[in-house]
Amino acid sequence: MRIFDPHIHMTSRTTDDYERMYEAGVRAVVEPSFWLGQPRTSPDTFADYFDSLLGWEPYRAAQFGIRHHCTIALNPKEANDPRCRPVLDLLPRYLAKDGVVAVGEVGYDSMTPEEDEVFAAQLAMAIVAGLPVMVHTPHRDKAAGTRRSLDVVRASGLEPGRVLIDHLNETTVAMVRESGCWTGFSVYPDTKMDEDRMVMILKEHGTERVLVNSAADWGRSDPLKTRRVGAAMLAAGFTEDEVDTVLWRNPVAFYAQSGRLDLDDAPAAAFHAGNTIERGG
Ligand SMILES: [Zn+2]
Repeated sequence: MRIFDPHIHMTSRTTDDYERMYEAGVRAVVEPSFWLGQPRTSPDTFADYFDSLLGWEPYRAAQFGIRHHCTIALNPKEANDPRCRPVLDLLPRYLAKDGVVAVGEVGYDSMTPEEDEVFAAQLAMAIVAGLPVMVHTPHRDKAAGTRRSLDVVRASGLEPGRVLIDHLNETTVAMVRESGCWTGFSVYPDTKMDEDRMVMILKEHGTERVLVNSAADWGRSDPLKTRRVGAAMLAAGFTEDEVDTVLWRNPVAFYAQSGRLDLDDAPAAAFHAGNTIERGG
């Protein structure tokens, strides 16, 4: 089973995680820039964080045979802090860099006017940069937050096929499918989605435009959740090809729209006989 985790915060994870991920079949990840837990007090610390997502973390991942790309944005939570707002001025420079495969995570946390402004501004930047967008949906009031996110995406003029709406569940999947945007599901140990609920959603809605991620970060989370979803899909009667669609080909197709997905130098020896690494572009 080859796995592309399209949303995982490796900065918060250990080398043991990288080893276990590789053993489980993970060969590529996307790390979205996000809130670090501790509030940041100036744009300079964002610049250092973005640099580490483009330099140090891909280097670290490569030691374990895993290709690492990132998405860059001012996250919804810190969009509310006026000290962080100048991060918007840094973004065009970062969005031009090779390892950046989308603008994200953008979207809503508490649905404030500040978040409205920062969300819309970053969708406009994505159009200018020619990048797809990864949208975080709020954990509280998810249905309203998802509906409002889709309205903002529609108003931006971005093509829905270039937008991924993440952290979905049973209550929000249908509206996102109707919109034409890609659907993302974060599978957590005890909140949000679990692997059995994920399988039910796949049975009902199919595998098209579906991405599954662990969203593992500094909280209680499991970087092997992608693999566990693959196993649950097989146990429920999905074919290996369908598992490959969800866990590899869909994330590759979505992020390849950046024109920057480079999976060439991931270690081919790690694959099962007959499988090769697809070029993303
Ligand atoms: Zn995240």
